[in-house]
Amino acid sequence: MPNIDVKKPIVEINGDEMARVMWDKIKSELIFPFLNLKLIEFDLGIKNRDKTDDKVTTEAGLAIKKYNIGVKCATITPDDKRVQEFNLKKKYPSPNGTIRNILNGTIFREPIIINKIPRFIRHWSESVIIARHAFGDIYKSQEIKTNKKGKLYLKFESDDKEVLIEKEVCKFDSPGVGLSYFNSNKSIHDFAKSCFNFGLRRKLPVYLSTKNTILQSYDESFKEIFEQVYNDKFKKEFEKHNIFFQHRLIDDMVACLVKWTGGFLWACKNYDGDVMSDLVAQGFGSLGLMTSVLQSPDGKIIETEAAHGTVTSHYRQHQLGLNTSTNPIASIFAWTRALHHRSKIDSNKQLEIFAKKLEDSCKYTLNEGMMTKDLALMVGPDQKWLTTDELLKAVNYNFRNK
Ligand code: NAP
Ligand code: MG
Repeated sequence: MPNIDVKKPIVEINGDEMARVMWDKIKSELIFPFLNLKLIEFDLGIKNRDKTDDKVTTEAGLAIKKYNIGVKCATITPDDKRVQEFNLKKKYPSPNGTIRNILNGTIFREPIIINKIPRFIRHWSESVIIARHAFGDIYKSQEIKTNKKGKLYLKFESDDKEVLIEKEVCKFDSPGVGLSYFNSNKSIHDFAKSCFNFGLRRKLPVYLSTKNTILQSYDESFKEIFEQVYNDKFKKEFEKHNIFFQHRLIDDMVACLVKWTGGFLWACKNYDGDVMSDLVAQGFGSLGLMTSVLQSPDGKIIETEAAHGTVTSHYRQHQLGLNTSTNPIASIFAWTRALHHRSKIDSNKQLEIFAKKLEDSCKYTLNEGMMTKDLALMVGPDQKWLTTDELLKAVNYNFRNK
């Protein structure tokens, strides 16, 4: 098989622990033997982030912005225990958060469907992609607790100190709690654009869920902004490809998720996306089969990764010199999805075929009953499982020979 030339580079971000061990193997066994590819490399391993005072993370985000495509290995987000473990100068923020802010992006989570792996709902035959609006709502809220009688107000004061709105929320006769949160039209607008561009790229219908029957200003704004962006900029293109946009109530949408066979993009408000992405991940199998794409509003820039973390529990085994059965499939798909985007931008048909064939080889291998332990446990007690190295070898063999 001759090597395929990839003219323009992609940004590669290395990470931590077991994810990094798998990452390096995927590169050397499944990518570089087949592609003449230039990488713009960043080491976001926790030690290098500490060494560079986390500047390397910002540099990586800016590089993705410049080159349009990034592929990222899972990284440690330090907590107090990690600060101690690695003797860090400080508790650095999540690299994913830093990069998301630079790209102003939306995260799309997509499960990989494998026929042989049972799903929570048997008739889910196509994937459901969850887009989470990662801005505002309860995650940027102010909350109170009160044990006195009294009144709670919601007040809006303009910059010139005029109180334009003041509403009584509740008259407390006994102890209680209160909450206030917000969102911005600009952020909802960018979220809508991200979702429609993603839907268009993947030729999938887009659903937005809200509770606008109750929140007639707040959630209604989400619906109105989505409809406006859709009608102004996307409707014609969507219709050309026989896809559409629809708003549904969140409770109705949850019922549809269970009833339907999949094959749609679901735009979720922040909290709904937090909950639904975990439900969908578990419902479709394992975290090892869940991919994650961060995409800019205009759809031009993407960063792909596996949705799982650095799999610390397996890394501890690896450190003891033991072979582990950690699932590399989502990490391989991070590569294929990034390479697919490269192929589309560059009109590189050979690269497009390579990415598709590598994904097909992964699916074929799993369907032939060669899989890691996380998936074997789902298939049943008689299902045998392979180590990560054995599975990568099987994928490689099937890629070359099937
Ligand atoms: P995790 O790495 O996703 O692992 C949680 C558990 O899920 C594992 O212990 C393992 O279960 C199972 N698992 C996850 N990925 C798997 C795979 N590929 N193959 C087989 N099993 C898999 O989450 P965590 O343990 O909560 O976090 C570990 C570190 O990752 C933390 O430092 C966190 O900050 C970081 N993290 C990074 C990202 C990211 O970079 N995007 C995302 C999440 C977490 P068993 O132990 O039962 O086998
Ligand atoms: Mg969650």
